[in-house]
Amino acid sequence: MFELAKQRLEPVFKHIVVDEEVVERLSIAKRSIIASIPVRMDNGELRIFTGYRVQYDDTRGPTKGGIRYHPRVNLDEVTSLSFWMTVKCAIAGLPFGGAKGGITVNPKELSNLELERLSRGYIRAFSDVIGEDQDIPAPDVYTNATIMGWMANEYAVLNRRQVPSMITGKPLHLGGSEGRESATGLGALFVLNEYATRHDWLRSETTVAVQGFGNVGYHFARLAQAQGYRVVAVSDSKGAIYSPTGLNIEDVYRYKHREHQLASVYCEGSVCQLLEFDILTNDELLELNVDVLVLAALENQITQLNAEHIQAKTVLEIANGPVTPPADEILQENGTVIIPDVLANSGGVIVSYFEWVQNKAGFYWSKEEVEKRLKEKISREAKTVFDQAKTYDCSIRTAAYIHGIERLAGAIDQTGNRQYFAKSRQAESS
Ligand code: GLU
Repeated sequence: MFELAKQRLEPVFKHIVVDEEVVERLSIAKRSIIASIPVRMDNGELRIFTGYRVQYDDTRGPTKGGIRYHPRVNLDEVTSLSFWMTVKCAIAGLPFGGAKGGITVNPKELSNLELERLSRGYIRAFSDVIGEDQDIPAPDVYTNATIMGWMANEYAVLNRRQVPSMITGKPLHLGGSEGRESATGLGALFVLNEYATRHDWLRSETTVAVQGFGNVGYHFARLAQAQGYRVVAVSDSKGAIYSPTGLNIEDVYRYKHREHQLASVYCEGSVCQLLEFDILTNDELLELNVDVLVLAALENQITQLNAEHIQAKTVLEIANGPVTPPADEILQENGTVIIPDVLANSGGVIVSYFEWVQNKAGFYWSKEEVEKRLKEKISREAKTVFDQAKTYDCSIRTAAYIHGIERLAGAIDQTGNRQYFAKSRQAESS
């Protein structure tokens, strides 16, 4: 996966020239740590979990990135995700490098107390290498504000002082930021709006299908509908629902939460009187003929196997890495425009940055203030990326990478490069 992730850099170097040393520095993670995390389970037995933290590059600032709990977490995946965080923070213009963490676990199989012990164990395992000016974790797939709260507390216990800025995505009462929970979905919507305005889309005629109905997919779908887009389909791991006239996202959310899965919406009685829809498989949702296909689930959802069947005109990547590079090429050949993850999902880390700033200042902003600043920041970077795609006549993904790599290369260069040292050697010898 990491080798595939790095392939995204190849087209960038066809458009911009960066020093070979920058390329070398960007092709390998600065630090990768694997730790075993022993947890006493509720039944008295001991289970040892594997945890990871990869700090990819910290030239532009302390490293930043979420912690993922998933049975498929491994070093290769965490490294790829940390590489994307590095590029993402640079594209967003944040004073951060990139990192990522994870634990190989199916969190749904653990009790809440086991989950708390595991989360505290993660911080004990990595507390020496994380910190407010070193490496700042956050939520990712299957981690949330409660887990961030336990982690902040464990760090405070170990260090015998409160350091709220050592982790972001915390609950509001523990120093979290207003607007953090919906930030990734809202940020993606601001990016889509920027694109829609440029192409004179009429929102009420723009059909949208959303794969993934977790925190990010739900907020995106809800806000997109509120802003006038026609959200016709949503899916979770159990299946999808589709209504050509548009779904009522709040109703879908309510019923999903009552029964814990979208399948519950396929029931009889009151729900079905409220909601009219067809039932689709997840694959069918991906292949719907819609204007915008939003990928808000996991990586590798569109591959060589299904890329030919994608009919959407625009794909908005909110998950990290949902389209593989070979699939990317097929989509491009078929005229599908991709708004890439490193731009589209940066709203989460942007508001994490705002949370860090507020924690450090000890001064907290209103939700309106946070959302206003998010809109300003992400729309500005999106505009630059869309303009660069025109200037370089390249895909939006390549333009986004160009934008981020220029910032990263600038920073790496400033730490000293071959020419600089050659000059100082000459000066010494003359
Ligand atoms: N996990 C999120 C991401 O992939 C947020 C990271 C953060 O806020 O540091 O962008």
